[in-house]
Amino acid sequence: MALERTFSIVKPDAVAKNHIGAIYHRFETAGLRIVAAKMLHLSREQAEGFYAEHKERPFFNALVSFMTSGPVMVQVLEGEDAVRKNREIMGATNPKDAAAGTLRADYAASIDENAVHGSDAAASAAREIAYFFTEAELCSRTR
Ligand code: GDP
Ligand code: MG
Repeated sequence: MALERTFSIVKPDAVAKNHIGAIYHRFETAGLRIVAAKMLHLSREQAEGFYAEHKERPFFNALVSFMTSGPVMVQVLEGEDAVRKNREIMGATNPKDAAAGTLRADYAASIDENAVHGSDAAASAAREIAYFFTEAELCSRTR
């Protein structure tokens, strides 16, 4: 299995509830290394561009309003099989369906306020990382 990078967001609900550290701890105990991170308050334009694939979905406006409602943490995670591993740590989109011990089971209140984002494939990870970080902002942790 190859070393991979994936993109992650601690969403406004989880930041507001002071769960940044608890969520980062889950990444680290699963063997994922944080190689870039910053706090941002997304503009409407940034959130709409990030979620462009969902533009036609009925929940798009609610999603953009939620994602701009307060600061988020954006980070790049690196490790073996990072994309799949992060999705596993996150749990299902709807916390009602999320397996016990996953981030969404433990920290999400509902499908629209579900604590974390994670890239769903290598291609989306590359696009999402580049959306928020320059190459120079990614710190190699493998040396
Ligand atoms: P994810 O990859 O697991 O985050 O899920 P999706 O890519 O399908 O959806 C992106 C985000 O849109 C989700 O994390 C939710 O915050 C939101 N979302 C998805 N489905 C629904 C829905 O049916 N209703 C609402 N209100 N929000 C949704
Ligand atoms: Mg998705």
